[in-house]
Amino acid sequence: MAPADGAKVMDPKVQKVLREQGLEGRRLYLPHMPYGGSYLLASAIRSIGMEAWPTTDSNERTLELGGRVTSGEECYPQRICIGDFLRIIEDEGRENVAFLMPTANGPCRFGQYLHLIRTTFDEMGYQDIPLITITSNDGYQSIGDYSIDLVRTAWRAVVAQDILMKALLKTRPYERHKGDADRVYLDSIVEVGEALSLMGVSHRQRLAAVRAALLKARDRFRAIPADYDRTRPLIGVVGEIFCRSNTFANFDLVRVVEEHGGECWLADIGEWVWYTDDEHRRRLEAEGRKYSVEAAVRVITTKIQRADEHALYRDWKDDFVGYEEPHDVREVLRMSEPYLPYNGALGEMVLSTGKSIYLYEKGADGIIDISPFSCMNGIVTQAVYPLVQRDLDGLPIRVFYFDGTQADLERDVGIFIELARTYQRRKKKVRRYPAYFGA
Ligand code: SF4
Repeated sequence: MAPADGAKVMDPKVQKVLREQGLEGRRLYLPHMPYGGSYLLASAIRSIGMEAWPTTDSNERTLELGGRVTSGEECYPQRICIGDFLRIIEDEGRENVAFLMPTANGPCRFGQYLHLIRTTFDEMGYQDIPLITITSNDGYQSIGDYSIDLVRTAWRAVVAQDILMKALLKTRPYERHKGDADRVYLDSIVEVGEALSLMGVSHRQRLAAVRAALLKARDRFRAIPADYDRTRPLIGVVGEIFCRSNTFANFDLVRVVEEHGGECWLADIGEWVWYTDDEHRRRLEAEGRKYSVEAAVRVITTKIQRADEHALYRDWKDDFVGYEEPHDVREVLRMSEPYLPYNGALGEMVLSTGKSIYLYEKGADGIIDISPFSCMNGIVTQAVYPLVQRDLDGLPIRVFYFDGTQADLERDVGIFIELARTYQRRKKKVRRYPAYFGA
C-alpha cells in the first residue's frame, strides 16, 4: 500500500521541544551501532522533521581527536564516540551540529559517557552544542519528549535493522560475486530509511511502507547468486553492544571471520531493547508498582512493539529457518542463570552468556565475544565461559578484546575457525538449515 503523502509539517509540540533544547536548525548525529542501525534510527528521527544522520565513517582522526581528550582510563567506545563528534564539529562547524548519545544506569561506565562528553564539550568552549540522550532507565520512553510517535517508529527502525543485518550475514559468506550482498544491504537500508522517515502518515501507513521496502529487500537478497554450503562453521557473535556493532571498533571482525571460512550470527540490537524492557518490569515490581499507571503503559507498549516485530518478521519466515531469535528475552536470561543470575548480574555479560547457550542450541560451531579492552562485561564473561564450555560439549568460545591496536586478529581468527571446524565434526546439536541450502 502506498503511503499517503502527508503534510510535511513539523508538529508544533515537537518544534517547541526542539527549540527549547537548542536543536532547531542543527543536524543531529548518531554513533554507528551499527551503521545501518544508526541510519535507520536517524531516518525515524527525520519523521518528526528533525535532520538526523549517522556520523560519517570513523577514521584515524577519530582516534587522534578522541585520544586528545581522554586519558586512556576510559572505555574504548567512549574514545571513538567523542573522537567522531569532535571530527564532525571540525568539519561542519559548531553552530550546525548536535549529537545523540544513549545512556543507561548500568553496572558499568556506560552511564558516564554522556556526562564526560558534556564536560569535555564545555571545557572546550562548546557549551552551545546540544547533546541529547535516550535512556534505557525508562525503557526509552524519554524519546517521546520529541514525539510519542517517534518511540514506535524508532522501534520499527531497530527491528528493520536486525532483519537486514541477519539477511546480510546469512548471504554474504556464500555470494558468488563479491560485493553483491553489501550492495543489496546498503540499497535496502536507504529504501527502508525512506519509509521510516515519511512525515504526516499514520502508524498503519508507515508499517505498510516499511514492510513493502523490506519485502523488496528480501527478494533482492534471494536473487543474489550464491553457493550455500553446509560445511561452513556458524559462529555466534555476542559481546559489548557498541564494540560488537561498530565495525571500526572491532576491525570488522565479522568480515574477517567470513574471509577465514565462517558465517556469523551477530546478536541483535532488539535483544537489548527487550532486555531493558524486562529490567523496567522487574524494577516496577520491586518497587511495589506492579499495578501502577506506568506498569500499564509498559504492558501496552510491549504489546504494540511485539505486534510490530511480528509484522515485520512475518515475510522472512522461510528465509530465517534455523536463524530464529528467541520468542522472549527471558529465554536467554534463564539460560544465563546458572552462571550469571540476571537478578544479580546486569547488562551485556548476562545477555552474552545466555545468548551463547541459545546459539549452541541452534547449532553454532563457535562463539566470539567482542569486548573493548578492560570492559567489565568481557572480564566477567571470560571468567564464566570455561564453565559454559564444559557444559556445552567443549564449544569453542573466545573473547576478542579491542582497543584500536589489534595486531594479530587474522592469525587469532584463523586459529579460532580451525577450532570451530573441529568442533563442528563432533558436535551433538543439529543445525537446521533453510531450504535454499539444499539437501
Ligand atoms: S560495557 Fe564495557 S566498554 Fe561499554 S561502557 Fe561498560 S565497561 Fe565500558
